[in-house]
Amino acid sequence: METFALDGIQIALGKEGARAYSKVSYPLRYGRFAEIKTPEHVFQFNLNGELKFISGRGRNWPNPSEWLKRTITDDWVYYSTGGYEGVFDCLGEYYVPCLSYPTNNFSACDPFHDNAVLSAIQAWELLPERLTGLKGGSLPTELGEFLEVVISNSPGELHKKSRRIREILGDDITVLPPDARHVDYDVIPLLIADGCLYRCRFCRVKSRFHFKERSREDIRRQVKELKDFFGRDISNYNSLFLGQHDALNASAELVEFAARYAYDAFELGSSHLEGPCLFLFGSVDSVIKSDDSVFERINRLPFRTYINVGLESSDAKTLHQLGKGIATEAVERAFGRILEINNRYEKVEMTSNFVFGDNLPEGHMQSFFNLMEKNFSHPFHKGTIYFSPLMDIKNGGWKKNIKREFFKLKVRIPVPSFLYLIQRL
Ligand code: SF4
Repeated sequence: METFALDGIQIALGKEGARAYSKVSYPLRYGRFAEIKTPEHVFQFNLNGELKFISGRGRNWPNPSEWLKRTITDDWVYYSTGGYEGVFDCLGEYYVPCLSYPTNNFSACDPFHDNAVLSAIQAWELLPERLTGLKGGSLPTELGEFLEVVISNSPGELHKKSRRIREILGDDITVLPPDARHVDYDVIPLLIADGCLYRCRFCRVKSRFHFKERSREDIRRQVKELKDFFGRDISNYNSLFLGQHDALNASAELVEFAARYAYDAFELGSSHLEGPCLFLFGSVDSVIKSDDSVFERINRLPFRTYINVGLESSDAKTLHQLGKGIATEAVERAFGRILEINNRYEKVEMTSNFVFGDNLPEGHMQSFFNLMEKNFSHPFHKGTIYFSPLMDIKNGGWKKNIKREFFKLKVRIPVPSFLYLIQRL
């Protein structure tokens, strides 16, 4: 690591963060990055000189353990400690991600109206100009080049660049699997199939497409263009998201081809981060139709694979209310199959989602607990069940008590269970 001090600004190049993701209750950075520290803020940049994190240093900053993250699609996410109380039990992480776009947000945090947070974003907007003033005189080559790149990566330029992701993929990634929390949602997206099977009425994140596999040629094209998009910073990634909403419904050959091809092309085996992960969504029908040979193939991939399945409910009235065209028998079969796979394949974890809300039919939770009783004789460490608060919860009182309502369920569930906060790429 090299450090420089210029006019009260400290710059560190070649910083090294942790080499593996871990769940800690303090700010931890991963991989390699550079940092510019002004008296007011700390700005951290990826290996392309693009802003990734900001935190405040002044007394007004809400909490020294909190920070802002800029995603590759140019969204802001504010990482709040949420007061720490019960946060891990709710989310499986020590931080509450406060998102700058509408989602099924159940937390009360609203950092995007906090003056200190807004000033941090504004300071970033003014940073290129501030750095331009430092460039006079002779600077060490490495420092001069770094400043040049950061100045050229202005907020406007990065916003333009972020649109490229959509052009490459041909669609927006409106939702990532909840399991992507294990790598702080830092995944390389690759679409192997568009759309989904059911197009449920309640779903606000569905793609405009019906389910259709992409060709191998298209997958190769995406990989090539994504490699250019991520540039040098690709070495800070160890995980892949195979989209879109039901990649498990694609043929096993295509899943294996895409995962291996991307692993090699993105050189995930020599990433700065250990423990490559693969994330995808499955569905009730794709789980039922996938025989053991599919999961044997997935288990042999050079990844730990997480497959998330939206089961939503095992109650007929609830499924009808949600506008999800599947039968309760199919949900029960899929759930049984998920447990079998979790027991049988060490490197595959299937997780499931159930809806959570105050205006669902009474049978919803009753049928859920029947499902638990029927399928578990003892607790199990794998196969997280996520509860997805419905976006249209209108009952303010219930929303305020969502944590308490969830904890009442959690204590009765024999596998890890958390709330699902819908996050996009
Ligand atoms: S919930 Fe899943 S299956 Fe239903 S419309 Fe949304 S993405 Fe498709």
